[in-house]
Amino acid sequence: MSLIRRNFDVLIIGAGGAGLNAAVQLAKADMRVAVVSKVFPTRSHTVAAQGGVNAALGNVNDDSWHWHMFDTVKGSDYLGDQDAIEFMCREAIPTVYELEHNGVPFSRLDSGKIYQRPFGGQSRDFGKEQASRTCAAADRTGHAILHTLYQQNIKARSHFFTEYFAIDLLQDAEGGVTGALVMDIASGEPMILNARATLLATGGCGQVFRTTSNAHINTGDGMAMALRAGVPLQDMEFFQFHPTGVAGRGMLITEASRGEGGYLINSEGERFMERYAPSAKDLASRDVVARAIVTEVREGRGCGPNKDYVLLKVDHLGEEVVAKRLPGIRETSKIFLGVDPAFEPIPVYPTAHYVMGGIPSDRFGRVVAPAHHGPEEVVQGLYAAGECACVSVHGANRLGGNSLLDILVFGRLSGLDILEYLGEHPRHRLTDSSSEECAMARFQRFDISGEGITVAELRSEFRKVMEDHAGVFRTDEIMREGVDKVRDIRHRLEDVRLADTSRTFNTARIEAFELENLIDVGISIVTAALHRKESRGAHSRPDYPERDDRNWMRHSLYFLEEDRLDYKPVRTKPLSVDSFPPKPRVY
Ligand SMILES: Cc1cc2nc3c(=O)[nH]c(=O)nc-3n(C[C@H](O)[C@H](O)[C@H](O)COP(=O)(O)OP(=O)(O)OC[C@H]3O[C@@H](n4cnc5c(N)ncnc54)[C@H](O)[C@@H]3O)c2cc1C
Repeated sequence: MSLIRRNFDVLIIGAGGAGLNAAVQLAKADMRVAVVSKVFPTRSHTVAAQGGVNAALGNVNDDSWHWHMFDTVKGSDYLGDQDAIEFMCREAIPTVYELEHNGVPFSRLDSGKIYQRPFGGQSRDFGKEQASRTCAAADRTGHAILHTLYQQNIKARSHFFTEYFAIDLLQDAEGGVTGALVMDIASGEPMILNARATLLATGGCGQVFRTTSNAHINTGDGMAMALRAGVPLQDMEFFQFHPTGVAGRGMLITEASRGEGGYLINSEGERFMERYAPSAKDLASRDVVARAIVTEVREGRGCGPNKDYVLLKVDHLGEEVVAKRLPGIRETSKIFLGVDPAFEPIPVYPTAHYVMGGIPSDRFGRVVAPAHHGPEEVVQGLYAAGECACVSVHGANRLGGNSLLDILVFGRLSGLDILEYLGEHPRHRLTDSSSEECAMARFQRFDISGEGITVAELRSEFRKVMEDHAGVFRTDEIMREGVDKVRDIRHRLEDVRLADTSRTFNTARIEAFELENLIDVGISIVTAALHRKESRGAHSRPDYPERDDRNWMRHSLYFLEEDRLDYKPVRTKPLSVDSFPPKPRVY
């Protein structure tokens, strides 16, 4: 088999908001940048982001990055690193203005300034009143941002490898990263992309769960590639279930619908969030609202024939507001439920939405990990940004509007740091031959037809196991069983067969690679969840109902080798202001 090899200064795997905001910094500086994406760049999942991006612009009422920082630390249930959070909240303001200047068509206030809406967990004056901090382009903010960034990259001449699938990272003899093995999806041909620096920006892994707001492409590929390269994953037990997914299907109904004045009711017509979060009510943090909905349903106050969802009302806002501010969710409700939210409430239930954990990286995007049981060090030539990375700014629970912010701020910073790195590392490092052989063996591993289980069968079994054993509420017994079942599924991956390899589309092989990635990431989630014996943010254990700051102000690190776990302390010292010490988290 012929093996094409290409050299670039930088390889960026992923063309979502994080990858494109890094690429544009580098391409503008005349670096040779390769951007690899398994889908057309503007189909990356950032396009689906609805509600908006947080920045304390103060366009609607007074605001400050310091209040934004307070909300983010509290929202993270004190597990976020406060230096990184301070940095992100300060950078938010110039980042949004940069987007505006690059052409993002934000919605406008009558004054002509960028429109900002209230979102969950936001406050003014350190928790006193609701803030309006989320900058929005109607409820299609991600779409507006991604298209603008793509156009900027075309202008700056980034080189796109569209519909190429990254299989594995390549490494030198010391474990530094030298590029990746990728496959052209159309032809099935492998190709080696060598680069002086490689950025993983492959997005989230919501497909781990059966019911999810995430697209089919969100299979945790970059996280699994990092695991196989010996890099651990951090804080994987923290997975966000968004309170308002379309009931039974999982597509997202944005938090903006509650930000615009929508609210939840149970079968008795009660606004039940008043009981769970007396001040913030429907705009409490996402973990709080998701648990409240599951509790209402479990206690028999769910709606519908099976009493298995609650209702989200926006019909009182009037058709004009729904059409102007929430056109996307109106379309989603009509298509998937046959419900027009301008006139009827929407059936909703929590849906797997966002992974707070990921590849451990610092605020410059550098991957920092303990190598071979040793102390923490920077992995040479490897960067990570966006949802696949864990900086960590979201800790145990992410606030709405803070992920677009994370991908933009740290995508940009990664690009700028890579630029410096390239100045210090003018030469390509040599790929170790065994690393290339390993990657090629993996490329060929699913070239097998005959009797055996299909990818689709094993995938649906796996996703159901994850949903049943690592959902909103978790106990020791449920998770222990989950770990056993997922390990068994990993074992059975050996038996996966493609129908007939001579006549199989390459997409079938890709689904097999993705399943392997999902399983590795899934094991990291259940393993880390089983061992964290406390309830914090999105990790909620009825058998350990309290947060335990004495023992658990620690980040988990999961290593693929022996399914090993390690821990490191949370960084509680900000860059320039006083720390926010842990307090009871009430809304
Ligand atoms: C429905 C929905 C609505 C949301 N709304 C908001 C919101 O309003 N505000 C907010 O802050 N956050 C929101 N989020 C979260 C936010 O949109 C995501 O966290 C963020 O967009 C992720 O961006 P990213 O750049 O990290 O990855 P993505 O945009 O997911 O891009 C990943 C890229 O990696 C590529 N890729 C992956 N694997 C491979 C591989 N093996 N080979 C080649 N390429 C690969 C993909 O092709 C893609 O280009 C929302 C999420 C969802 C699901």
